[in-house]
Amino acid sequence: MRKIGRSRVVLLLLSLLLGLAIGFSAPSPIEECESSSLQSTAFSCAKAESSAPSLTAFPAPKVHPLPTRLAEWHDTTLSGDYFDQIAQTEVGYLIWSVFPIQIFVEEVATSTGNPAELERSQIWSKAVLQAIQEWNQYLPLALVTRSEAADILVWRSSPPLKASQTPGVPHRARSAETRYELYTHKTSAAEPAWLTHRCIIRLRPSQATQYLQAAARHELGHALGIWGHSPLPTDALYFSQVRNPPQISNRDVNTLKRIYEQPTRLGWSMSNEAQP
Ligand SMILES: [Zn+2]
Repeated sequence: MRKIGRSRVVLLLLSLLLGLAIGFSAPSPIEECESSSLQSTAFSCAKAESSAPSLTAFPAPKVHPLPTRLAEWHDTTLSGDYFDQIAQTEVGYLIWSVFPIQIFVEEVATSTGNPAELERSQIWSKAVLQAIQEWNQYLPLALVTRSEAADILVWRSSPPLKASQTPGVPHRARSAETRYELYTHKTSAAEPAWLTHRCIIRLRPSQATQYLQAAARHELGHALGIWGHSPLPTDALYFSQVRNPPQISNRDVNTLKRIYEQPTRLGWSMSNEAQP
C-alpha cells in the first residue's frame, strides 16, 4: 500500500547481478563464476556495479525489528547456517522492512498456437508461484499485478549473455540471475525520502522442470536477502545445480534469520541519518 503512488526519485543505479555462483565474496567491480556440475551452460553468476555515490549520502545502518515469522522460527535440529558466506553490499545487508514484500510475476500466454510453448509457459509460472509460496512461510509475500508497484520483479527471460573470459569462446547462456537497484522514494512532499531497493529476477524458461523450480527457489532466496551461497548441496542456496534439488532447508532459514538481525542502510530515512 505504501508503494502506491509513490514518487520515485532514482538517486542512483547500483546493480549487482547474482546467479548461482562459486566463491561469492566481497563486492568487486566485476565477478563472474559458473557451476561445475551438471550443465555447463546452467548456472553462473556475474555482478557488476556502476559508479556509486559516497556513503555519506546514505542513512546510517540500523537494525530493523525482526519480521514475525522469522522471530517465531526456531530450528530444533540445530542445523547451523552459512551466514559467513553472505556478502554485505554498499548499503549493508539486503533487508526488506515493509511487509508484505510485493512481487510481480510476468504474465505468460494462456493460449497460443504452439502447445509446447504453452506448456513451457505454464511450467515456468507454476515454478515461480511455488517458490513464492515456499518462501512466504518465512517472510510475508504478496503478488501484485503492476510491475511499478513491485519490490521484486520476476521476468521470463534469459539473463544477458556474458562474455567468455577466454578469447574465441562464445558467450555463455545463463539460466537465471538476480540483481538489485537502489533508489529513494517518498509518499508525500512533507515526508523525507527513504532509501530502498528493488530486485529483478530473470529466469530462463527453457530448462528442465526440476531445475527451473530449483532456480526460482534459489533466486527468490537471493532477492529476499540471502546475498551469497551455501557450500552445502542440501541447501536451496547452494552455489550450483544438483541432480535432486533440495527444498528450503533449516540452514537456509537460519541464515535468512541472521541476515534480518543485521543492520542495514535500507528502509531508513535519508534525512538526519547521514553519516558524518
Ligand atoms: Zn545464486
